[in-house]
Amino acid sequence: RGKRAFIAGVADDQGYGWAIAKSLAAAGAEILVGTWVPALGIFETSLRRGKFDSSRVLPDGSLMEIAKVYPLDAVFDNMDDVPEDIKTNKRYAGQNKWTVQEVAESVKQDFGSIDILVHSLANGPEVTKPLLETSRRGYLAALSASSYSYISLLKHFAPLMNAGGSSLSLTYIASEKIIPGYGGGMSSAKAALESDTRVLAFEAGRKYNIRVNTISAGPLRSRAAKAIGFIDDMINYSLANAPLQKDLEADDVGNAAAFLASPLAASITGSVVYVDNGLHAMGLAT
Ligand code: NAD
Repeated sequence: RGKRAFIAGVADDQGYGWAIAKSLAAAGAEILVGTWVPALGIFETSLRRGKFDSSRVLPDGSLMEIAKVYPLDAVFDNMDDVPEDIKTNKRYAGQNKWTVQEVAESVKQDFGSIDILVHSLANGPEVTKPLLETSRRGYLAALSASSYSYISLLKHFAPLMNAGGSSLSLTYIASEKIIPGYGGGMSSAKAALESDTRVLAFEAGRKYNIRVNTISAGPLRSRAAKAIGFIDDMINYSLANAPLQKDLEADDVGNAAAFLASPLAASITGSVVYVDNGLHAMGLAT
């Protein structure tokens, strides 16, 4: 039987989530995605109208199929968490079963089990503010959307993951080195995500026999990254200073994710794997 993957955080064809979906599809996996509720309408319309067809092409010439798109807001575990203003917001009102627990239940009902869980989402409302200027609310929102969302996803999906399964998130070097401009508590959120990767590898490894890793990815001009505002500078910095002076493609991260999700990586868990042309290893800009 082929493997089945649930990828949370795909809303267009520009980000790491899409590239990971493609690499997993190319390796024969069935693809389910979770799309942020406010972005769902445009994503589904664009998919239907063929706007992503050129980026759906797999190495064998076929088009990636997405078996099902689930609405998801990973900031809420179940309906009890959802405040009135979100419930009545017109972008949410037309959708249902989009909290983490409900999506896991729907996937279980629709497909029974999964083998691969990918968390490719982050949000920090105050990301453009220095940490010193970040509000408590903004900081906690960054941690909720970017770190706890992963704990919640794993907690609710692990029971439907087949033994030997693999779970993965995306992190960024700002967790361990100073990256001015990556603010709002997003650096803290990535530090938490990496630490949680180790603890969750232990807990989920013992309890469910699944692996937990995170990819520390280099800069990519995704929608989320463009919102931070300095992505072009980061890409140029990497080109100038990384050991490998080449463009970092989203597919490089997709392929590493497919490797980590595969039996080739059967003994890799609790790891931060750098897919960044080696930039993390530099100590001095050249
Ligand atoms: P992206 O815009 O493709 O992905 C982010 C996704 O998160 C979007 O689809 C957005 O709709 C979704 N999202 C936001 N809040 C959500 C919520 N509450 N519930 C569900 N979905 C939500 O951008 P990306 O840069 O590919 O980001 C994917 C991951 O890669 C993130 O964890 C990001 O931090 C990480 N990353 C990105 C870079 C980069 O340079 N782009 C570098 C290292 C790590």
